[in-house]
Amino acid sequence: MDILNTMVSCGHEQVAMYSDPESGLRGIIAIHDTTLGPSCGGTRMWPYATESDALADALRLSQAMTYKSAAAGLNLGGGKGVIIGDPRTDKTEALLRAWGRFVDTLGGRYLTTTDVGTTGRDLESVRQETRHVVGLDVTLGGSGDTSLMTGLGIYMGMRAGAAGVWGADSLRGRTVAMQGFGKVAGHTAEHLLADDAHVIAADISEAALDRARAMGVKVVGADDIYDVKCDIFAPCALGGVINSDTINRLRCRIVAGGANNQLATPEDGEELHRRGIIYAPDFLINAGGVINAAAEIGQPYNPERSRQQTERIYEQMSAVLTTSRKQEISTSRAANLLAETRLDSVRRMRQIWRG
Ligand code: NAD
Repeated sequence: MDILNTMVSCGHEQVAMYSDPESGLRGIIAIHDTTLGPSCGGTRMWPYATESDALADALRLSQAMTYKSAAAGLNLGGGKGVIIGDPRTDKTEALLRAWGRFVDTLGGRYLTTTDVGTTGRDLESVRQETRHVVGLDVTLGGSGDTSLMTGLGIYMGMRAGAAGVWGADSLRGRTVAMQGFGKVAGHTAEHLLADDAHVIAADISEAALDRARAMGVKVVGADDIYDVKCDIFAPCALGGVINSDTINRLRCRIVAGGANNQLATPEDGEELHRRGIIYAPDFLINAGGVINAAAEIGQPYNPERSRQQTERIYEQMSAVLTTSRKQEISTSRAANLLAETRLDSVRRMRQIWRG
C-alpha cells in the first residue's frame, strides 16, 4: 500500500507502528482527524493475514470514528488501534502492557478502548502503562459495557426512522428482523419488546438464539433473515451485509442496526435510497458506545448524562432525514454531510482565530 498517498486522500493525520519482540506485539495506531479533540477508538486484535490488511482496517476504522464522534456531537476525533494476532492464543499481560506503552507514546492524541478481540479486563492491563484509556469497568470508576447505550441509541434511531416513514415514532406492532442477537441486539430488543414490537432474530450461535427465545423473540435460520417480511431490518452482527445481492431480498421500509460498516459500498446506500428504503446510517445510530465511553473523560462518569446524550440520536437521525428530503440525497450522504459540516465549521473557526 502507498501509505502516505492513502493518508492524504482519506485525510489521515498520523499512522504509527510498533513492534515489541519480547511480548510478540505488532500493532498499528491510525489517527484520522483530531480537529474536534483527541482521537478515540477501540483496539482490535485480529489474526490479519497480512500487514496491509491490518493497516487498511486501521485506516478505514479510524476514519469511521471521526464521522461517528463528529455526528454525535462529541469533542473527539477518530482513531483506531489494531494488534496483529489471535486474541485466543496470542494475548498475554506483557503484550497488553506493551500496547499500553505504545498508546502512551502518543501523549493523549489517541484514547483507546475495547473492540473486537479485546475486553474490559484487557484494558486493565493496558491501563497499567497509560492513562489514555476509556471504557474501563465500572468498578474501576469507568463507564463499563458499551453495548447498553449502543442498544438504546439504535432504538432511538429506529424511532426517528419510523417517524420519517409512518409519521409516528411508535414501534408498537412493528416487526423488526435482527441479524445477530449478541449484546447490542439484545439491549435493543429489550426496548422494542417493551414497546410491544415484534422481534424476529437470526444468529449462528445457539447460546444467542436461546437468549432470544427466552425473551420471547421468534427465531429464524441465519440465511433466512434477509427474506423476512418486516418493517425494520436490523444488521447487528457483521459489516458489508447490505450489498447488491441482499438488497434485492430485503422486504422492509427501514434498515437500522448496530453493526459497523453495513454498506458494502457507498453505492449500496444510494440503491436503498432509490428503492425508498430509509437507511439509518450505522455510525450515526450506533454511537451510544462511544458516547458512553466519552462521558468518562475529564469528569466522573455519570450514566444519566450518557443516557441523555445517547437519546439525542433521535434528533440527529431526524435531522438526517430532513436533509435527505430537502436536498434529495440519500441518508448516508446526509449523515456524512452532518459530520463534515461540523468538522469544517470548527476548522474554519480555528483559521479565523489564527488570523
Ligand atoms: P456480539 O459479539 O455480542 O454479537 C454479535 C452476534 O452476531 C453474535 O451473537 C454472533 O454469533 C452473531 N453473528 C456472527 N455472524 C453472524 C451471521 N453470519 N449471522 C447471524 N449472526 C451472526 O457483538 P455486539 O457487541 O453485539 O456488536 C454487534 C455489532 O455491533 C458488531 O458489528 C459491532 O462492531 C457493532 N458495534 C458494537 C458496539 C458495542 O457497544 N458493543 C458499538 C458500536 C458498534
